[in-house]
Amino acid sequence: MKLQVAGFLDNSLVNGEGLRSVLFVSGCNRRCPECQNEAMQDFSYGDKVDSSDVLDRIKSNMPLIKGVTFSGGDPFEQAKPLIDLAKEIKKLELNIWCYTGYTYEEIATGNDEYKKELLKYLDVLVDGPFKMELMENAPKYAGSSNQRVLRLKDGKIKNQ
Ligand code: SF4
Repeated sequence: MKLQVAGFLDNSLVNGEGLRSVLFVSGCNRRCPECQNEAMQDFSYGDKVDSSDVLDRIKSNMPLIKGVTFSGGDPFEQAKPLIDLAKEIKKLELNIWCYTGYTYEEIATGNDEYKKELLKYLDVLVDGPFKMELMENAPKYAGSSNQRVLRLKDGKIKNQ
C-alpha cells in the first residue's frame, strides 16, 4: 500500500522516548496558525512511497532504535495505510508513538473506523494541535501544554 511521505529520520532522540526512526506523512486539514511543519499540511507534499519500502528503511535502523514515531502532517489522515505498516512494526517488537492534531476523544468517539483501528497499534499518542501561546509547561515530547502524552493499550488510555 502507498503512503504519501513528507520525510523520514533514521535516528531521533526528540520525537519520543529512546532512539527512534520518525516517519513524517503528508497532509493535515487543521491549518493551525503556528504550525511548525506547514509544508507538510499539503496532501501532495513529498513522495508516494510503498509501505514495504518504509518498513525496510525502519529495519535498516535495527537493532539501534527502540521504536518508530508517526508525525506529519497528521498521520490519522492516512490511517488506512498506516494500520498495515503499524502491524508490521509491532511484529518487529518496536513501540509506536504518534503525533496528531486530533484529541484522543475525537478519534475514539468519531465514526472513522480506520482512525479508531490505528489507535489499537499505538503505544503512545501525543494528541491535540500545537499552540504557540501554550508552549510554556508543555509535557516532555509535546510542543504545547494543551497536548497530552497518552499511553495506550489496545486503543484505550492506560492509567498514567
Ligand atoms: S495539527 Fe499539527 S500538522 Fe496539522 S496544522 Fe496543526 S500543527 Fe500543523
